[in-house]
Amino acid sequence: MEILDGKTTSGEILDNLKVEISSLLEQGHRIPRLDIIIIGHDYASEKYVSMKEKKGADLGIKIVVHRFEDNIEDGEIKQLIGKLNQDSLVDGIMVQLPLPKTNKTFNTKDILEVIDISKDVDGLTYSSLGSVWIEREGIGPATPTGIIKLLDEYDIDLTGKNAVVVGRSKIVGLPLAGMLSRRDATVTMAHSKSENLQEICKSADILAIGIGKPKYINRDYIKKDAVVIDIGINRDYEGNLVGDVDFDDVKDICAYITPVPGGVGPMTIASLFFNLIRVYKRNVKKY
Ligand code: NDP
Repeated sequence: MEILDGKTTSGEILDNLKVEISSLLEQGHRIPRLDIIIIGHDYASEKYVSMKEKKGADLGIKIVVHRFEDNIEDGEIKQLIGKLNQDSLVDGIMVQLPLPKTNKTFNTKDILEVIDISKDVDGLTYSSLGSVWIEREGIGPATPTGIIKLLDEYDIDLTGKNAVVVGRSKIVGLPLAGMLSRRDATVTMAHSKSENLQEICKSADILAIGIGKPKYINRDYIKKDAVVIDIGINRDYEGNLVGDVDFDDVKDICAYITPVPGGVGPMTIASLFFNLIRVYKRNVKKY
């Protein structure tokens, strides 16, 4: 069994981006810019945003954070996004999710839909989500983008392979299925209503699980020599970080596996900046 090492691979991607950004700046191009909108004070969201600020600064990217209290109206957020859409100095716009659950309900879909597709570095507008099913190079959400980059890094051939994606959320399973299909895998999407999940998973050459259930997938779900992508990030009873796959139970059966931590997680943040620099390069040509 070989580990798909997301920590090392993401480090290499970030190092390459840093070199690329500094060379673009030396050529006289402006600083790439990502605008992040955060609403409320959710601890995990604050942490993710500060991680992006730190990493962005290290890469030479300008990160502008727009903070709102959770009593803000949807209209004000949409108005800001509208302004950022028009600003030629802004390359990427993202709204930190999930939006807070308060007395008022935010309409996440309507808010995200205001983001211009050319600045949708998080790949969550319906147009971006559709694009990854239609174009091989569509810009999609960071987690599935990172998974594809990791598979590429290890030269894992997807053509004609049976790929099973368990979980169909908009940030993970749905776009990942599209990306695998565009790379000529034969894709099955499974979810909480799927019957015979074990049998479906056992048919997979590539098995990707993102369901949020600690160590749910054991060896009974794994085909011999499968590639196992564990997307889950959970805490077990002792508070340790674990995936959706029981790593120790499956490690002798599969050919490749992503560890948790150190697999898909670090690829996610690297892919956000990778997406940003893709749109930035389009923008500097445009203006
Ligand atoms: P969601 O809750 O949005 O979606 C979970 C999906 O799993 C749903 O499609 C659900 O089916 C399906 N599901 C739930 N239980 C089962 C089951 N027993 N059998 C089959 N399918 C099931 O979660 P997310 O997609 O946001 O996150 C999933 C996991 O991935 C979490 O652990 C999260 O922490 C992790 N994650 C990791 C990231 C990373 O960077 N590594 C990034 C984002 C998420 P249905 O649609 O029928 O309800």
